Amino acid sequence: MFDWLIVGAGFAGSVLAERIASQRKERVLIIDRRNHVGGNAYARATNSCDG
Ligand SMILES: Cc1cc2nc3c(=O)[nH]c(=O)nc-3n(C[C@H](O)[C@H](O)[C@H](O)COP(=O)(O)OP(=O)(O)OC[C@H]3O[C@@H](n4cnc5c(N)ncnc54)[C@H](O)[C@@H]3O)c2cc1C
Repeated sequence: MFDWLIVGAGFAGSVLAERIASQRKERVLIIDRRNHVGGNAYARATNSCDG
């Protein structure tokens, strides 16, 4: 059972989830329609600096 449901694992949702879990010691379920965390800040890893 969770105390919170956060929709969206971008910066805002991820930071909020971490703060609730670490400071309030409450259980958080975070969901996202994408298959990764980070929202619009997500970047695919490459092997070069200019990739
Ligand atoms: C092209 C581009 C370049 C950028 N470049 C920079 C930069 O260089 N430097 C910088 O500081 N910032 C940059 N930004 C801005 C930065 O990405 C955003 O400010 C930041 O990601 C916003 O975070 P957020 O958590 O508010 O929203 P988002 O990152 O948009 O996260 C919201 C999340 O919620 C999910 N979501 C929304 N609705 C639903 C739903 N109904 N069900 C399930 N999941 C849902 C989305 O899939 C998404 O993952 C850029 C943005 C873009 C688009």
